[in-house]
Amino acid sequence: MENITVHRSLYPEIDLSATILVVEDELAIRELIALNLKQAGHIPVQSLDAHQALERVNDSLPDLILVDWMLPGMSGVELVRRLRANKRSCSVPIIMLTARVEEADKLLGLDSGADDYMTKPFSIRELNARIKAVLRRRAPQITADQVHFKELTLDPGTHRVSIEGTALSLGPTEFKLLHFFMTHPERVYSRTQILDQVWGDHVFIEERTVDVHIRRLRAALEPSGLDLLLQTVRGAGYRLTALP
Ligand code: CA
Repeated sequence: MENITVHRSLYPEIDLSATILVVEDELAIRELIALNLKQAGHIPVQSLDAHQALERVNDSLPDLILVDWMLPGMSGVELVRRLRANKRSCSVPIIMLTARVEEADKLLGLDSGADDYMTKPFSIRELNARIKAVLRRRAPQITADQVHFKELTLDPGTHRVSIEGTALSLGPTEFKLLHFFMTHPERVYSRTQILDQVWGDHVFIEERTVDVHIRRLRAALEPSGLDLLLQTVRGAGYRLTALP
């Protein structure tokens, strides 16, 4: 049988696609960043100050936030502090943009809870590289990187799952569910957390729906015995573990 290999480099545009909130008061810079994010395959959302950004985040949680330090009214540092203090937005990856270069300010920016820090002016190429690095670290399930776990291989780019090379057929939700667990192994997630991460934020679906799809995923994994890796943790949720 012929073995077909799809090379990642043929599809650079599908490597990564994230919803990115850009909080910047200067229109020209904000639009330039948004345009470049779009060209890099992302979905940019714009806010011109911290209050608008907080409303946006409350409305729909982005995958990453770019925050300018100098904003009118509430500063970027204060905005990051508030985002981190909020249970809903505390783990969103944040990159802070600033024109300040003083070391003390830089430390203050990092202390505020930003994941990375960029001094203006910066090249778009560098911004894209930093975004990719932060997302890989903080939100691996939205990257198109191939993931391996025990005998399982999942390729988001080609939407394929295999067990020791044998293709496994999964529905779209089961695929996303498995992708999430494979990128977050050994940790327990509640049904609410799974809904947020797999179905999307602010989606009104009953928690029982999670159980239905977990059951389908287990059924698909059962012939290989790998269903045992997907554990129910009583009173807590579900976990994918290498040590069942
Ligand atoms: Ca500014």
